[in-house]
Amino acid sequence: MSEFRTIGILGGGQLGRMLSVAASRLGLRCHIFEPGTAPAGDVAWRLTQAPYEDDSALRIFAESVDVITYEFENVPTSALDLLESIRPIRPNRRALAVSQDRLTEKTFLNQIGLATAPFADVPDPASLEAAVAEIGRPSILKTRRMGYDGKGQVRIEDGPAEWTGAPSVLEGFVDFSAEISVIIARGADGQVSAFDPGLNVHKEGILRTTTVPCGLSAQVTTDAVLIAARIANALDYIGVLGVELFVTENGLIVNEIAPRVHNSGHWTQAGCAVDQFEQHIRAVAGLPLGDGKRHADVVMENLIGADMDRVPDLLVQPRTQVHLYGKGEARPGRKMGHANRITG
Ligand code: AMP
Repeated sequence: MSEFRTIGILGGGQLGRMLSVAASRLGLRCHIFEPGTAPAGDVAWRLTQAPYEDDSALRIFAESVDVITYEFENVPTSALDLLESIRPIRPNRRALAVSQDRLTEKTFLNQIGLATAPFADVPDPASLEAAVAEIGRPSILKTRRMGYDGKGQVRIEDGPAEWTGAPSVLEGFVDFSAEISVIIARGADGQVSAFDPGLNVHKEGILRTTTVPCGLSAQVTTDAVLIAARIANALDYIGVLGVELFVTENGLIVNEIAPRVHNSGHWTQAGCAVDQFEQHIRAVAGLPLGDGKRHADVVMENLIGADMDRVPDLLVQPRTQVHLYGKGEARPGRKMGHANRITG
């Protein structure tokens, strides 16, 4: 079947955990590399807990696997260089480089003909004023690197503009009517399979729900899928890619891309024969992609912090899957699990 038996995963959070379960269903096994706490370790063949600076641990990890993938895009370049000298990394380094840095990402998207929010490079506090004059208010200052779930972002309205503390991009505020995302898989042979676009609702920068179908016109959903396919092809991508888009009066605007399985694709576990985690494993292991066609309407709800108190009730709801990540303390803002409710 697959020429690969063992998949290495950088990052041991919930995404790595669900990837590992998907791999196990295909007779494959996963070795997780994670510097911190690793809920994925509970369900993996092997777990290495070591910093990304530990060359010897990285080498032993790489030599024990056939291919390396990741659930976390902010892996240091030095670690990737070492790993790649031993085993292939899928998706490739270019996809990582583009998505690790908001300035590189937006520049790349514009170069392949896709619309983004207007943006300006803000390397230091001294350049902020000129950038605000160019982009206007309201706008959002975002760190170029390491931002996720709304972290590292400062909204600029009427008052003085605050500094993020690191090289940033200033983005014009997009007046969107909805936020959607496309999760798309691309195989080693260039075959592409997109899941239906989902409608996303965020609160305080964190995804709360994804709903499919997204309720938008066929034209918008087709456009969204074509945009995602264009990005995947341009990056010669192998694996699952998440593309977040704003729906505006003037068409779709790409907000950001994630070179990995994505929270807004968790609904596929209940809505498709082959979910995003399995598609990713198939792609990186060189297997054919499976059937990602949606067979049900689904609402995915994240269980964040104190939402865990609702688990006893959710467990007895009809047509509802509960996925818990096996994390310890349910701190505010921490993603502890999600529920997929089949609505039609
Ligand atoms: P991000 O971390 O870039 O995905 O931003 C988190 C959330 O902030 C997005 O899902 C949007 O709800 C909002 N947001 C980010 N950028 C913009 C923008 N340029 N205009 C309007 N809202 C934005």
